Amino acid sequence: MKSEDNVARWHILAAKEERYAQQQLKLGASGVSVVQITLNLPGGFTMYPWEKLLTAARAEVHAMLADLGVELVSESRLVNALGPCHLMAVLADGHTLKQHCIALEETATQGRLWDIDVITRRGAVNRHSLGLKGRMCWVCEQEEAHVCRLLRAHAADEVIAIAKKIAVWGTCINDCAS
Ligand SMILES: [Zn+2]
Repeated sequence: MKSEDNVARWHILAAKEERYAQQQLKLGASGVSVVQITLNLPGGFTMYPWEKLLTAARAEVHAMLADLGVELVSESRLVNALGPCHLMAVLADGHTLKQHCIALEETATQGRLWDIDVITRRGAVNRHSLGLKGRMCWVCEQEEAHVCRLLRAHAADEVIAIAKKIAVWGTCINDCAS
């Protein structure tokens, strides 16, 4: 393995540890769940207006928490080799919260580019534990995204082109792929 590959791997590992440490720090207070917003930006986050995207996602999550009457204890932003991440410690049940976050991912204009995770002391609440399927692929809309990723079903430049359109225009109704 080339030494620059090793350096890159080390950076990713260090970034993962840094993010995990921040999550755990927030989970320290009792009754707290962590809402983590990350961006799903194929090809690398620097190719996109990521600050704008993250700020918009944060605003939508804030509005959702306010609607639910959920208290926000603290929040922080972390940008490292894993990409940008916004962490919020909130006083709420993780499962209920996750359902609202999923609804937001699926209805917000740019929600397809967001990953809103809910983390509790027992780990992340996943869709399957709520009886839901994984997220659909936003290129073909036929398969779950992880299936298309595994099969490398779509060319990288096609995926990036669609993501860029969503980043600028939001989810298109009819002609995203054109
Ligand atoms: Zn697909």
